[in-house]
Amino acid sequence: MPERVFNFSPGPAVLPLPVLEQAQRDLVALPGVGMSVLEISHRSKAFDEILAEATQGLRDLLGVPDGYHVMFLQGGASLQFSMVAMNLLRGSGKTADYILTGTWGKKAIDEARREGETHVVWDGKATNYNRLPKPGELKFSPNAAYVYYTDNETIQGVEFKSPPEVGNAALVCDASSNFLSRPVPIGHHGLFYACAQKNAGPAGVTVVIARDDLIQKAPANLPPMLDYRQYAANDSRYNTPPTFGIYIVMLICRWLKNEIGGLAKMHELNQAKAALLYDVLDKQPKFYQGHAEPNCRSLMNVTFRLPNEELERAFLDGAKQHKLIDLKGHRSVGGIRASIYNAMPREGVETLRSYMLDFVKQRG
Ligand SMILES: *Cc1c(COP(=O)(O)O)cnc(C)c1O
Repeated sequence: MPERVFNFSPGPAVLPLPVLEQAQRDLVALPGVGMSVLEISHRSKAFDEILAEATQGLRDLLGVPDGYHVMFLQGGASLQFSMVAMNLLRGSGKTADYILTGTWGKKAIDEARREGETHVVWDGKATNYNRLPKPGELKFSPNAAYVYYTDNETIQGVEFKSPPEVGNAALVCDASSNFLSRPVPIGHHGLFYACAQKNAGPAGVTVVIARDDLIQKAPANLPPMLDYRQYAANDSRYNTPPTFGIYIVMLICRWLKNEIGGLAKMHELNQAKAALLYDVLDKQPKFYQGHAEPNCRSLMNVTFRLPNEELERAFLDGAKQHKLIDLKGHRSVGGIRASIYNAMPREGVETLRSYMLDFVKQRG
């Protein structure tokens, strides 16, 4: 096998090696089936089993309560920006409340504005999205259609520790970049979604977990492919679902259950990995300037600047020589972003940490 590098890509991102190896072993013929997962009908018995295990795997890991559907869609997280508003806001006569903590939330509200009245509950733009709202700063609309937030802003590297308190409003969450990284109270949410390609699988499949009574309120005339009820009623098979992606999600769930030991354990491992890097920022605050305020630092995307762009370029060039790949920050924040999702081995983070310590010794 060709040598693997330490892949810090923000997404599509590193996948667990055991998952890749299992997919490779079974690629030509699934055991007992004699055909590849790429070749079988989405209505075959073999795929029934894959879909059922993927669904149950997510239900078990996340503790999804009764009354919620687990659905597999296409169109990425970006289609959810539209679908959430089409299903929950369009024609409701209500206002949708958005908490804007970074780039993805901003894109989501832009789509909701096409569908109805929106209200920015809070916007972190003034400080370039480096912090989260304090509870007293949130002023919701009376009788909001829903309150929307982005659990982890992938570009800025700010992450909620727990869902915002929103009273009785239906809470909608984009959890694309920290899905399955820790336990979450799904029951606090009306709708919870994530594209797979950061932490849960390949690009092309998006998981939506939604409360039945909420999606039943959608307008009657939605195109079926944009109507959550169709996915719920047809077990995500109104049309051909992203079969290979669902199969990989199934393998990821198996890995999380059997090899990691569940989401609480995954969370511990993620906390320990992130601490290795934030510790360097805290010890060398003049050289490595963290973007996020310490109380909302993401465990998934560690964002920081160096004193100047020349040093940042040298840092990225040198990193490659240690097999530390794709560390360049997003242009809106600049600097460095280390995406350390579930599948990033601790060894990769340790290698980055040593490199950071060496680099500041030589260039600081
Ligand atoms: C990557 C990302 C998206 C966009 O996902 P697509 O599948 O490319 O549409 C949206 N929200 C968050 C939080 C993300 O990390």
